[in-house]
Amino acid sequence: MSKELQREIEKRRTFGIISHPDAGKTTLTEKLLLFGGAIQMAGTVKARKSDRHATSDWMSIEKERGISVSSSVMKFEYRDYEINLLDTPGHQDFSEDTYRVLTAVDSAVMVVDSAKGVEPQTEKLMEVCRMRNTPVLTFINKLDREGLDPLEILSDIEEKLQIECAPLSWPIGMGKRFKGVYNLYRKELNLFTPGESATSTETVKIESLDDPKLDEVLGRQADELREEIELLEGAANPFSLDDYLKASQTPVFFGSAINNFGVQEMLDAFVELAPAPGPRESTERVVDPAEEEFSGFVFKIQANMDPAHRDRIAFLRICSGKFNKGMKVRHHRIGKDVNLSKATIFMAQDRAHVEEAYPGDIIGLHNHGTIKIGDTFTPKEPLKFTGIPNFAPEHFRRVRLKDPLKSKQLQKGLIQLAEEGAVQVFKPISGAEFILGAVGVLQFDVTMERLKAEYNVNAVYESVDYSTARWIECDDRKLLDEFTSKNQHHLAHDAEGHLTYLAASEWRLGHTMEQWEGVAFLKSREHS
Ligand code: GDP
Repeated sequence: MSKELQREIEKRRTFGIISHPDAGKTTLTEKLLLFGGAIQMAGTVKARKSDRHATSDWMSIEKERGISVSSSVMKFEYRDYEINLLDTPGHQDFSEDTYRVLTAVDSAVMVVDSAKGVEPQTEKLMEVCRMRNTPVLTFINKLDREGLDPLEILSDIEEKLQIECAPLSWPIGMGKRFKGVYNLYRKELNLFTPGESATSTETVKIESLDDPKLDEVLGRQADELREEIELLEGAANPFSLDDYLKASQTPVFFGSAINNFGVQEMLDAFVELAPAPGPRESTERVVDPAEEEFSGFVFKIQANMDPAHRDRIAFLRICSGKFNKGMKVRHHRIGKDVNLSKATIFMAQDRAHVEEAYPGDIIGLHNHGTIKIGDTFTPKEPLKFTGIPNFAPEHFRRVRLKDPLKSKQLQKGLIQLAEEGAVQVFKPISGAEFILGAVGVLQFDVTMERLKAEYNVNAVYESVDYSTARWIECDDRKLLDEFTSKNQHHLAHDAEGHLTYLAASEWRLGHTMEQWEGVAFLKSREHS
């Protein structure tokens, strides 16, 4: 194994932010990029043309806003680390991609609004982290506002997300009385000064909590802090790096992203604690990042990012080896060699051609519809990385074709869009029309647009009375046949031919599951 490769791997931190809309993900991202020097000042962009190549226009809207939050990958440097921040689209962009991005990261940062505690979208995203034992670091945001009691937030996290909390900082007051945070492991006070552009905080080192300096700077709140820390020491868990890396514990920081408070402290801990790229499972064997041979898998496909070219970009996460521009790799599923001469690397602001890249980095491959989610690329060895599943959809539509002569195109379009992960497609056992499933409703609009533009298909959606789906598995042939014949009206095959149960409600699903104990109802399914 080469020393250079090992060094590059150890420097890399590839992560995503999980949060509910409005918790502050965008604001936090902006501040992180600010520390990374990827943007000069929050809210403005000064593209460093000299060290970056062509800027692309697909991010023009984001540029107007000053920051490319909807770009899929932001790469920046901080201290000696190379950080890849993968976007987890929220708000109306929430989709299966949001989940899938989490299959390509090595860790996650969870943002929680201190006034709201754990919210539904965070719960959903944490479920994906739990599936993969992804380490999660927590940032509790908006301490400049009145919020819930910090201990209450911690127990909310522990209860709803089934993960132990280990606070590494502790807030001193909140809202109007917010004075800053006490850094528990450095024994430092970080004092709060409101203001959006601050990049550093005033820090006061104290010997212990009995230090009279504490009273000087905090006044009456010094005793409150002492009491709270005492309480905390009895109630909270001590931090354990091991437990964090095993994903059974989350270190917790408090701050205010908009005031850029507590962010650098969190970032410093993040780069030190968060894991570098590690080994990954494939169907054949476990692949170590330090292996010389390059390998990577596709976790996201984005269409028409550049309206002038109508290209599709497949996002590939490098799992092992070094990527060199122009290298030849094999697209194993279709058995074709491809030359990666025009792969793109994603910077915070623009796309540039990559010369070299390492495990943990994301590169973009141009693609004309041959790449599927989950496809693996290596120079020779036929590998297939696992853990890039489809996730059970929560929204459904029936597709009705307006021109019956176009049914072949519709089928072709839907299968391809399903392979790209744009939407999930189900063909009911009884019934001729396709049913589409999605995790976020915007996926339906995108699908319809693309059916029209790329496949010349004119169709409309009809509502359908389903709200959840599960993939069916059952080794007992007889039981499966019986289950299938009794549940015909709820069963469909997905784009890859797997049997799926569609239910009108969670309650209905639960009821069926109880009735058919020998049948497995799976919430996610691997791509084949
Ligand atoms: P996202 O939806 O998670 O990306 O959240 P945004 O970053 O867009 O933030 C949502 C709202 O919360 C915006 O109005 C922000 O200005 C505001 N916000 C973000 N961080 C803070 C904070 O630390 N304190 C306060 N008071 N507001 C914040």
